[in-house]
Amino acid sequence: MNTNESQNNILRRIIYIIVLIFLIIVAVFLYERYSKSNFNDFVRTEYVLYTSDFVRDHEVRYSKSDSYKIVSNEMNDAMFYKTINVTPNTPYKVSCMVKTENVKTEKAVSNGGAHISIANTVEKSKSITGTNDWQLLEFTFNSKNRTSVNIGFRLGGYDDNCTGTVWFSDFTLEVTSSQQNNSWNFACFIFENTQVTMENNGVSRNINLSMTADDIFTLQDDMQRFKNSLQELSHNKIKVNYNIIRVKEPITSLSYDDKNGYYVGPENVEKIIEKYINNTEYDHIFICVRLGDNEHKNDIPVYDWIGLGGMDYLGIGFSNIRLPNASSNIVYTYSSGINTFPEEVFVHEFLHSLERDSIEYGYTIPALHDNEKYGYKEEGLTGLKSWYEDYMNCNIKSGGQKIGLPEKAFTFKPTHIGDFKYSYKIDEFKEPSNIIEVIKQMLKNVVKNFNAITIKKGENNT
Ligand SMILES: [Zn+2]
Repeated sequence: MNTNESQNNILRRIIYIIVLIFLIIVAVFLYERYSKSNFNDFVRTEYVLYTSDFVRDHEVRYSKSDSYKIVSNEMNDAMFYKTINVTPNTPYKVSCMVKTENVKTEKAVSNGGAHISIANTVEKSKSITGTNDWQLLEFTFNSKNRTSVNIGFRLGGYDDNCTGTVWFSDFTLEVTSSQQNNSWNFACFIFENTQVTMENNGVSRNINLSMTADDIFTLQDDMQRFKNSLQELSHNKIKVNYNIIRVKEPITSLSYDDKNGYYVGPENVEKIIEKYINNTEYDHIFICVRLGDNEHKNDIPVYDWIGLGGMDYLGIGFSNIRLPNASSNIVYTYSSGINTFPEEVFVHEFLHSLERDSIEYGYTIPALHDNEKYGYKEEGLTGLKSWYEDYMNCNIKSGGQKIGLPEKAFTFKPTHIGDFKYSYKIDEFKEPSNIIEVIKQMLKNVVKNFNAITIKKGENNT
């Protein structure tokens, strides 16, 4: 071997080592970059694209794996979601750990914040705002007639935006068998006081309204009548339990839409009712309210509704029952010879929830408002009682057929945490746990179209 050859050999080795070191640095750099941005099977979506940061956080984490962090310095609705396959008509529970820092909603009264949701629907967990250490967040839903859903972890809301930082970790999915139970728990909240500020042509006015002892007595009486009527009219297809909760704390904000005017949305009373809802697993909520009286006839504009239904609070049907402004109006008062069905508005609004559920479970049913189309007219004493009876018993004649709610509708109750006593876990949100799985996931994500997607805002459903 001559010196030239051995010099060449040394040079070749040096170059080889330099290239190797360079490759290792590149690999470490890429891996670092990758692991900071690796959202595994989740798809990132934003209302305003490229506004929020989505990062994996190694420093602030709940367990072994890096947490999933969303930072919104500007108002945005940001979420990462995964499409999961589900069995129709089955209850599911999604849970995670969540930590928040300085989360603020854009609207003063809002159901937004850090939460779990099903993308493009109003189905969601409770929302967390402000600064909070790690806590458990749970979200239950029924798949209804769906075979897949997009489970999203979100900083924002379906009708609001947020700023702040959220960390999510330890995602789990559980499934349980569907309950075939027709026993419903109703919560009837009687809000005795309404204290709101109305703006009119730049002038703001405080409006204070209170229920009278008579109002409260009438509503209590109607709940008892509602229980009996619903059981009788459905031919015992439903069993009704109820609690009346009298609330002295005033309603201080209202929601508004062009069709209905002002009304009480879940976000207006959430802070007050949540403690009652958490203690008992309610299946339907009535909010009884006064939005005017003899003195304040049109100060709070309401467009011709006395009851409002089909709304949803954490998956629970949510209805408004509004006392009439004029004290001479006896729509809710039993009076033989004048009004023998004063609980009609309660029945009507609850049936809106069963109507909505039946459609979401995939049934074709007549619309609750289509009574005239099938020949049912309001009677002086009993309103639309016979329509409701036939509606609930699938006994409406239509083209040689009988139509109405399916008997199963009375088992379409909201899914509660308590339903998951006997559940099993599905490995849907499993993190890659060894180097082979990490590399597999890396390759998958390189192939996958990983562009951000614009969030479609859901409709505020009233
Ligand atoms: Zn209606």
